[in-house]
Amino acid sequence: MFSVLLLAVPALSAIGQAPVRAQMLAGLAIDGIRCDVSEGAVQHIHTHLQLFDRGRAAGVPEQIGIPAGAGCLYWVHTHSNDGIIHIEAPVARTFNLGQFFDIWDTSLSRMQADGVRARRGGTLRVTVNGRLWTRDPRSIPLRDHEEIVIQNGPPYVSGHRADWSKL
Ligand SMILES: [Zn+2]
Repeated sequence: MFSVLLLAVPALSAIGQAPVRAQMLAGLAIDGIRCDVSEGAVQHIHTHLQLFDRGRAAGVPEQIGIPAGAGCLYWVHTHSNDGIIHIEAPVARTFNLGQFFDIWDTSLSRMQADGVRARRGGTLRVTVNGRLWTRDPRSIPLRDHEEIVIQNGPPYVSGHRADWSKL
């Protein structure tokens, strides 16, 4: 029994992110976040995410969480490439940045955020509303009108505030 378990663990890690992609294509739940045919009405908030690599903006794509052909959108998604994460959910629950990156189907850790990687032995600089975030960036709660900046530096930039007047 014990040896069976040992064999199962590397097999699971070897398939990596492929299951997430397959779930996305089928519109199946990811981290308990469903892909529904219409936007949820219980909670509608927005968080602004910016990524920088040595002072240059690295994009957050449009249509994250809106898989083409699936006919649904995940509760946590983007519409355009402005870095605004839309949380439109039929439940009152706090989502976190790690869940958004899982739906994006890319990496988030202290060392890497999508294509932005810290230098060997270093970590990315993460701020939430300008304050340094030193814990795992995956645990950052997605709250309304917050500014999340993740970057590899130097140089370090402060980013820009979203135009919250419309959101
Ligand atoms: Zn929205």
